[in-house]
Amino acid sequence: MQSEKPVYLLLGSNLGDRLHIMHTAVEMLAEAVGNVTAMSSVYETAPWGVLDQPAFLNQVVEVHTTLAAEEVLRLVLEIEHELGRVRYERWGARVIDIDILFLGNHVQDSARLTVPHPRLHERRFTLVPLVELIPFYVHPVLEKTLSELLETCTDDSDVHVFSGNNSIAD
Ligand code: ATP
Ligand code: CA
Ligand code: CA
Repeated sequence: MQSEKPVYLLLGSNLGDRLHIMHTAVEMLAEAVGNVTAMSSVYETAPWGVLDQPAFLNQVVEVHTTLAAEEVLRLVLEIEHELGRVRYERWGARVIDIDILFLGNHVQDSARLTVPHPRLHERRFTLVPLVELIPFYVHPVLEKTLSELLETCTDDSDVHVFSGNNSIAD
């Protein structure tokens, strides 16, 4: 049996009951992928890439898993599907998105799966929750800590802890 590794997943939602959907996704991940060992705060974040859409909630969860990367991808795509995700346009609105950010120090670049996630260092909505959990984690390809990557990130879109009040989606 493979040894346990931490996998870091980014959850995102900007349609429907965002918080409820994210909670359900975490429960489904715990069931299918492995023990959920840490979770960042939930952040409310401005859309990125396609700007004309509602604000997102984002959260990073750490799950300990014995599964291989391809298997984790298969399961997260299945969970997205079960939660009613429909793909309309690239980077468009969705009830749930689950991206694999890191799987231990695993590095892979294939047609179906790239790990670490190839755009994580360009996105404040990913780096801010990651830095909350693992600021000193060294990106296995870029060889910089997540804190360093956040410092040099040129994305200036809004990312703040979600309180349920004063939503930028209102
Ligand atoms: P982005 O990847 O820029 O955040 P997105 O999340 O909107 O965009 P999706 O439509 O959710 O993109 O995913 C398209 C495909 O990306 C998935 O079907 C999957 O095969 C592939 N993919 C490649 N690398 C990853 C990864 N690290 N995590 C999740 N999916 C990945
Ligand atoms: Ca994504
Ligand atoms: Ca995705």
